[in-house]
Amino acid sequence: MSKIKPTTVALSSSEDLAEICKHLCQTALKRGASDALNISPADVILDPRVRFKCMIPKCYISGNCAHCPPYGYSIQEVREIVQGFDAGVFFRVKVKNSIIAAKDLHLAFESGVLDKDGNAMNLGAHYVLVSTIVKVLEKRARDSGFMAHGFAAGNCRDPFCLLQPVCQDLMTERGCRNPELSSYSMESCGMDVYRMAARVGWDLYPIGGSCEPDSVPQGSLMGLVLVRRNHS
Ligand code: SF4
Repeated sequence: MSKIKPTTVALSSSEDLAEICKHLCQTALKRGASDALNISPADVILDPRVRFKCMIPKCYISGNCAHCPPYGYSIQEVREIVQGFDAGVFFRVKVKNSIIAAKDLHLAFESGVLDKDGNAMNLGAHYVLVSTIVKVLEKRARDSGFMAHGFAAGNCRDPFCLLQPVCQDLMTERGCRNPELSSYSMESCGMDVYRMAARVGWDLYPIGGSCEPDSVPQGSLMGLVLVRRNHS
C-alpha cells in the first residue's frame, strides 16, 4: 500500500496572492475538479433572479434548509462579501450525462427514495466532491495565512443531513450540524454561475427534470473560493 504523502505546503502569509491562487487551482484539479482557474472578484456576476429561481417554482429544498433561499445571504450581503476579497478560484466538476440527466432522477431526490440504478447516489457523490474541494481550498488558504470564503453547488441538506428530520440550523438554536462540511452554494447566493462559466469558456448545458441524457453532452457542478490577504 502506498504511503499517503503530506499535502500541506509551506506558504507564508507574505506569499504572493498569485502563488496561493495557482496552488489552490492545482489542488482543486488534484482533488477531482475537471477545470479550475483564477478569477477576479469583479468577475463574480450577481443577479437577484438566480435566487428567485430557487423559489419560483419552489424547489423541494427551498424553505427546508438554512443555506438555501429564501434564507441565506441577501444579494447586497453577497456583494459586500465578494468585494472584500482579492482573488478567487473558480472550478467545476463534470458529471456524465447518463447520471445527471437520468430519467426520474428528480423524483428520487424529492421523495428521498433512491433510484435502483444508483444515479441519485452517484450525483450526490459529485455534490459532496464539490463541497470537499471548497473546504480543502479554504483550509489550504487559511493554513497559508490568507482569509478564504467558499461557495459550493446545490443544497447541503441532501449530501450532509439526508438522514435528519430537519435542518438543525433552521429549526433550532444550535446552528448548523455540519459547519466543517457545508457551504452556501453559489446559486443560493445569487451568483449567475451559467454566465460566469460561459465567460471563462466552459460549455454548460441547462438540465431540467424532463431532460434526456442524449440531449446534453454532460453536466457541470461549480464551486468558488474567494481569497484575500490576512490584514490582521
Ligand atoms: S448542513 Fe444540515 S444543518 Fe447545516 S445548513 Fe445544511 S441542512 Fe442545515
